[in-house]
Amino acid sequence: MTYASVKPLTLTLGHLYPDQLNLYGDRGNIMTLQRRCQARGIELRVVGLGIGDALAPDEYDMLFIGGGQDKEQAPVAQDLYELKGIGLWAAVEDDMPVLAVCGGFQLLAHYYRPAEGPDMRGLGVFDAWTIHKGARVARCIGDIALSWNGTTLVGFENHGGRTYLGTAKPLGKVLKGFGNNAEDHTEGAIYRNAYGTYLHGSLLPKNPHFADHLISLALKRKYKEDDDESTIAAFSATNNGQRLEQDTSEDVLAVTTLTKEEATSPSPLTLAPLDDTLEWEAHTYILERLGLHNAATAAIRTHIKQ
Ligand code: GLN
Repeated sequence: MTYASVKPLTLTLGHLYPDQLNLYGDRGNIMTLQRRCQARGIELRVVGLGIGDALAPDEYDMLFIGGGQDKEQAPVAQDLYELKGIGLWAAVEDDMPVLAVCGGFQLLAHYYRPAEGPDMRGLGVFDAWTIHKGARVARCIGDIALSWNGTTLVGFENHGGRTYLGTAKPLGKVLKGFGNNAEDHTEGAIYRNAYGTYLHGSLLPKNPHFADHLISLALKRKYKEDDDESTIAAFSATNNGQRLEQDTSEDVLAVTTLTKEEATSPSPLTLAPLDDTLEWEAHTYILERLGLHNAATAAIRTHIKQ
């Protein structure tokens, strides 16, 4: 059986304000997504969007915005509200996966009231708001673990702002650490496929399951909807068990006959598992350091081959 050139699955990630919001290694999230896509033969293109750059949502499949100090957040807030806000809202309402960390998370809520100076207007993607308690109040700093989706997420937090949720769902429940406000045990926020969190670290290298969750959301959103002749279909089993691979000129590049196991194999959008032993060792190390021994044992049992 021979295949003509098979187009790889491709994704484009918009990295918002890479030069302004890049605290505590948040760029590690981009590197993790790139490596996990590359390991599966998925082409992930990363485009930086700085102050003054327009955000055309149709050009992207996922978005990332990192954290920053108050002084970096102020100009970003203005640009986000005045220039990129409409495009970002359109992306979110179209279920594009968005990851917003700390300062970026705060600016996707209604507002951030810093320790000094005027409120920073946010986009209101998350029905939430953030208030800094002032320079005399200790910051929320340290390792953090939370429950998410039946498992755990771990990271490092460092924020003065306290975030309070309106109707926004929390990302998870704090198991150890401060979380949104060190009061109500919530951490982060979710709206459609937009995820806000205080977890630096960076987040994704120690949480491979969450990284794959974001990649899967982006793939399913991009390729599941390609069901008309005019766009590139990743793969589709046609009738009588043939695989048809087309390009936009609708010339059939390859018609191949599926073997029985291929015809029943999981969709090409199903991410192949990777050897995440190192990632889960780092994850469980944080859990142990926080005294969450049962959660650490569960993570080892589930994710590290004995
Ligand atoms: N400047 C914001 C705060 O202190 C966000 C900090 C961050 O992004 N780490 O709450």
